[in-house]
Amino acid sequence: MGDDDTGADPPSGRGAWSRRAYLVATTGSATGLAGLSGCVGGNGDGADGTETIRESETPERGTAEEGADEEEADEEEHEELPEGVTREAFERGPVPEAYRTALSLGGEARNPADLFRKSEVGFAEFEEARENSAHRPGTCCANCADYIPDKNGDEYGACAEVEGYIDREDWCTVYEDLPEPSVPEGMAAEDLPTAEVPEPYRTASSQGGEERDPDDLLTQADANVMESVEAIADGVAMPGQSCGNCAEFIPDRNGDTWGACARVEGYIAVEDWCAVWEHVSEEL
Ligand code: SF4
Ligand code: SF4
Repeated sequence: MGDDDTGADPPSGRGAWSRRAYLVATTGSATGLAGLSGCVGGNGDGADGTETIRESETPERGTAEEGADEEEADEEEHEELPEGVTREAFERGPVPEAYRTALSLGGEARNPADLFRKSEVGFAEFEEARENSAHRPGTCCANCADYIPDKNGDEYGACAEVEGYIDREDWCTVYEDLPEPSVPEGMAAEDLPTAEVPEPYRTASSQGGEERDPDDLLTQADANVMESVEAIADGVAMPGQSCGNCAEFIPDRNGDTWGACARVEGYIAVEDWCAVWEHVSEEL
């Protein structure tokens, strides 16, 4: 279940080539970009296992008093929990209803009866994950095919493979690359960054509720659009940022696995990123 992806080359299509070639051709885009947004560097707050479990199962515990003490110590040691969520629920679930059977960024339906425990899959926060020999630079939940971004404004998401609450900056050993969209028929890869998007996207609302105005968009060069994994690995983006969890993203509407953006022109893939990234939680 959930083989660790070793980062093989994308199968076909636009791939990294088109992004890099386009951006290299547009000199100075990266520096021009820094002034576009306060997001860069400032807005990011942010072993394979074999046994699967039900997220509603309760682990063995000591006395209530011991449990309360441990919970208090845990809370001091770890990140702040969402309001009203216990440490146990944070680690083991259940997650809120909106996530329980939701689709992940890669289109996988979450099955609450078939999930790994965090302890089985080397689950870690980003800084700790970097020390894991299986971790590939730039990879985190936000650009994983199994991630389910925040749906209720508490800043946490969920996962189609792992139980409990999941932060976009986290990582585990069953990380899976998002599938690379192929170039639509009749188009060339180099045209995608500037192409007019299909009708269903032109004036659509983004997942954060912003309406797309085709006459008021940034170019991909100006916005410094690139792949999220690459942007995080290069230190251009903060861990946990991708189009998939951006308020401006308009997810696939016609089945070609591409999306669009309410701020930036052209075809946009869910694993992309740009300098005007804004966490979807801010609009929920
Ligand atoms: S979303 Fe995160 S926790 Fe889930 S499989 Fe991917 S890397 Fe692991
Ligand atoms: S959806 Fe992607 S391209 Fe659009 S603003 Fe967000 S990060 Fe940038």
